[in-house]
Amino acid sequence: MNFELGTEQQEVKARAAEFADREVAPYAAELDRDDRIPFETLEKLSEMGFMGLCVPEEYGGAGSDFLSYCLLIEEISRTDAGIGVTLAVHTSAGTLPIVIYGSEDQKARWVPDLARGTRIGSFALTEPEAGSDAAAIQTTAGRVDGGYRLSGHKQWLTNGRIAGAAIVFACAPEGVTAFIVPTDAEGVSFGKHARKMGVISATTDDMHLENVFVPEEDRLGEEGNGLSVALGTLDFGRIGIAAQALGIAEAAFRYASNYAAERTTFGKPIAEHQAIAFKLADMQTKIRAARLLVHEAAWMKDRGMRVTEAGARAKLYASQVANEVTYEAVQVLGGYGYMKDHPVERYYRDARVTEIYEGTSEIQRLVISRGILKEMTGPPGGVEGSRPVVG
Ligand SMILES: Cc1cc2nc3c(=O)[nH]c(=O)nc-3n(C[C@H](O)[C@H](O)[C@H](O)COP(=O)(O)OP(=O)(O)OC[C@H]3O[C@@H](n4cnc5c(N)ncnc54)[C@H](O)[C@@H]3O)c2cc1C
Repeated sequence: MNFELGTEQQEVKARAAEFADREVAPYAAELDRDDRIPFETLEKLSEMGFMGLCVPEEYGGAGSDFLSYCLLIEEISRTDAGIGVTLAVHTSAGTLPIVIYGSEDQKARWVPDLARGTRIGSFALTEPEAGSDAAAIQTTAGRVDGGYRLSGHKQWLTNGRIAGAAIVFACAPEGVTAFIVPTDAEGVSFGKHARKMGVISATTDDMHLENVFVPEEDRLGEEGNGLSVALGTLDFGRIGIAAQALGIAEAAFRYASNYAAERTTFGKPIAEHQAIAFKLADMQTKIRAARLLVHEAAWMKDRGMRVTEAGARAKLYASQVANEVTYEAVQVLGGYGYMKDHPVERYYRDARVTEIYEGTSEIQRLVISRGILKEMTGPPGGVEGSRPVVG
């Protein structure tokens, strides 16, 4: 067993950390305050090859592994969680489904621009009446000569209006189906930009589709296979959100521990009061435990293993840790933690959504518990020792 990152992974982490500290951190508070989209940072991310880091080189990406991608998301989110999720949704929900489920023709036509960042990707599953219950979507895809006509209302798309392409899920005659839809297609429009509690530098928009023509060749996978595409994508997409949560937690821990070493009360640094010292110990321990789950899930993905439960465990725990750690970071700073002069109140707001998008914590528990049940009731002779003894 080896806990060390490989040479390439260490290089990606170092490059990402240096970039995040130089190009992302200085603007994070301003973007959060002004609710502004960071186009210039996205361009710089493209120049660094970060918009297609784990996309194969043959389709214009950097060809790094999924663990490297998670290291990148963690480092960017450590400085600006909104840019972290912009990058995560673009890569794992907007680009990788085409790499994984697309035809050679689709990969050749769509992926290189996405991997280079000249086109941003998005993922349009949620609707006003369908979030956790994805099968309840109502957007329709009627068959017409040469393709389909899509109509419906998609809600809260990360990257919505800045994306050049969206993976849209709609009900076709054979069932839910995935489509690649250019956002400049006739009939596509975007509603009001959502005003949020956190991850403010990420744009979140509603998308309206009115009789939008999508040619047959832009159907992603078989007709009726859309839910498999959506759930398969979320299986690994969640690992990226777990990495985002980890980045937020790490930022809060670093800030709070530095502060605790400097702030004095009753004649000594607050870090020397046991109540604060123990908070820091718990924060660090939880972050390290969460990181192990994230790296394990990414490691499994890189080996082509099933990550449904591992990804859910990583997201469930890392998002919980992000919320606990940011809560405690505010507490360590006392009144200063509540003020906009320090970034911990932003981390606290940013952490909240990691327990909601790409599947709420309740849905992660559902996924994990179903996996346990399957192990218990599945055929004997599965993984030795993992089969719980019942009765
Ligand atoms: C900032 C932001 C960005 C987003 N970006 C995207 C995006 O890019 N693309 C996209 O498609 N979607 C996106 N979403 C939508 C997000 O994935 C959904 O909000 C999420 O899946 C939850 O769905 P819901 O909000 O409809 O909540 P609901 O499904 O209505 O759930 C409400 C509550 O009930 C619980 N619940 C529901 N069903 C069950 C159950 N069976 N058992 C136990 N508890 C249950 C939930 O956990 C939750 O606590 C985004 C959301 C936000 C806030």
